[in-house]
Amino acid sequence: MKPAAQKGAVLQQDIASTTVPHGQAAVWWLGQSSFCIKLGQTVLYIDPYYRETDVVQEIPLRPEEMTQAALICCTHDHADHFHPDTLPGAAAASPGAVIVIPQYCQERANALGFDVKRLHPMRGDDTFEHAGVTLHAIPSAHQQLEYDDAFGYRYLGYLIQGNGVVLYHPGDTQPYAGWDERLRRFALDLAFLPISGGDNLFYQQAVYFCAIHRPKVAVPIHYGLFSTGEEFLPPFAELLATSVPAQRMAALTVGARFVLSDK
Ligand SMILES: [Zn+2]
Repeated sequence: MKPAAQKGAVLQQDIASTTVPHGQAAVWWLGQSSFCIKLGQTVLYIDPYYRETDVVQEIPLRPEEMTQAALICCTHDHADHFHPDTLPGAAAASPGAVIVIPQYCQERANALGFDVKRLHPMRGDDTFEHAGVTLHAIPSAHQQLEYDDAFGYRYLGYLIQGNGVVLYHPGDTQPYAGWDERLRRFALDLAFLPISGGDNLFYQQAVYFCAIHRPKVAVPIHYGLFSTGEEFLPPFAELLATSVPAQRMAALTVGARFVLSDK
């Protein structure tokens, strides 16, 4: 198993002690689509996911180590994004955190016993402000969009605005009609791009995304955790370098701190 660069108490201390001036973001990859992000003083987790079996990459934080959060966000109801074995522990470790979920996941969240006052369900194309951070829920398409009047869009991504920066985490998505228009309203500083194909972006599509939106930094995600997965990175990196040579790409190391700055 590939070890994480930092884990457990050492990583918690790194998150706590990192200062993040205006115009910057600190980002720690926790494997797959799971991230800890710090904007100013505000810590948020997206798609927290802990497992020890059948993985080739060590996941650096156990649920009870996912502390300090003001927001815990889940993008959709699949286990590597809304993880019933990780979420309760993370929520208990960060008792002040608001738990942001697609409204589609409301019943699953209720079944985990969360205090309803801690939950903030989103429907897609709506906005939520908390702890100095604004979340715009951008519908995502797991192959296709799924919409129901009762709960809105089943799959969400989050456009995260705060501390003078804009980050985009789409969860799992394929391109769909209306996606570009929703995102063009924002100047992206960092875009997390799931590059594993299938229900996610094939590497060529991730390159097109960069050509269209030109985020300051593109961060490939959703690869490298399971035994098939590491092979998705090289073709993306190669095509990006030849097709959009000015695009900065950062392939993160799980558990290491990455700082997005305007310099
Ligand atoms: Zn996934």
